[in-house]
Amino acid sequence: MKNAILVLNAGSSSMKFQVFLQGDELTSIYSGLAERLKEETPYVKIKNQNGDVVLKQDLAPKAGHGDALDLIINTLETELAKEEVKLVYVGHRFVHGGDKYVAPVQVNAEVIDGLKEVIPLAPLHNPHHITGIEYIANNYPSLKQVICFDTAFHATNPESIRTFALPRKFWDMGIKRYGFHGLSYEYIAFKMKEVAPLARKTVVCHLGNGASMCAIDNGKSIASTMGFTALDGLPMGTRCGNIDASVALYMIDKLGMSSAEINEVFNKQSGVLGLSGISNDLRDVEESDEPLAKLAMEYYTMSIARKVGDLAATMGGLDSIVFTAGGGENSSLVRKMVAEKLAWLGVEIDLEKNDCRGVVRQISTHTSKLALYIIPTNEELMIANSTVALLEA
Ligand code: ADP
Repeated sequence: MKNAILVLNAGSSSMKFQVFLQGDELTSIYSGLAERLKEETPYVKIKNQNGDVVLKQDLAPKAGHGDALDLIINTLETELAKEEVKLVYVGHRFVHGGDKYVAPVQVNAEVIDGLKEVIPLAPLHNPHHITGIEYIANNYPSLKQVICFDTAFHATNPESIRTFALPRKFWDMGIKRYGFHGLSYEYIAFKMKEVAPLARKTVVCHLGNGASMCAIDNGKSIASTMGFTALDGLPMGTRCGNIDASVALYMIDKLGMSSAEINEVFNKQSGVLGLSGISNDLRDVEESDEPLAKLAMEYYTMSIARKVGDLAATMGGLDSIVFTAGGGENSSLVRKMVAEKLAWLGVEIDLEKNDCRGVVRQISTHTSKLALYIIPTNEELMIANSTVALLEA
């Protein structure tokens, strides 16, 4: 009998998951999602490793995370049993562990109470992760669960990077930079040892719907562009990124906007969508000849180039830049525009090598002063690895 690990990423109305088979290395054998949970038409879909759909089933209207988990776990257990595989562990992605959780933890009653304490740090994400964790603890007690935190990789950032220049009492209240996408950066740091073993000072650009960048020095995070929440730093699909805090004050005092309205503008209506007026998806904006689409691409890529300088300074140097996540892995235009803005640093991109999507590849020329790479990220594999490492230590 072989073992399998379920990796779960639970959101407010959706859950994404993958199943890994334990062997010499971990292999992804199933993936799937539950969507529109708690709405009128929730459903679950599961695919095998060939991409064939093994289950597509509607749930009852308003069915929630628990109903979806029952269907997912029962279906997987039946499918896995046919191949003499047993589901034994569950690894969870958890967005914000605050200062309390800086490494993966195994779930027990005390940990669940502790997780509830960090809900206020990410009220839109943390409660939904906890729903899944608690449901599995109560209904599938034989499954051992591990939680992996998106903030944990940045716990190595020095205090001078983590603090805001506010009165110290706010630091004591937990108002500081945490950084996110840590599971992605941890995977890239691990993969860089194989792809570029001599690289030391790397800036990683994680350019998905949410986007951030991280300075990784000798495998450790030194600084990143996201801060107290995942709103800071780069412009993203719909988030504005860095903004003068006085803009929010002006919106309250002079425009009469509520905090909920400002939250909606900053998080849902800004970024690439807000600038272009077309879409949050880089693909749509890249294709458009509208002046505002061009402005959005220029702002987006200039923001990345500016942050390269910022992050390089935190490491006292730079030898490589990695592009990852949806836009980083797939957009040759974004990579080209960023590289051209860094030409003053001696960056030279090889346009032929850059003409590709979703592969591990060096895309800089032989004479470039910095090496440029594409490395597809794999947060789920990182969670599965950490889950096994903790439970079988
Ligand atoms: P998430 O942050 O939700 O995990 P992804 O990492 O999958 O998102 O990134 C999705 C984003 O990647 C899309 O919204 C789009 O902006 C970008 N993207 C994906 N494929 C391409 C492509 N071929 N060209 C340009 N951008 C792309």
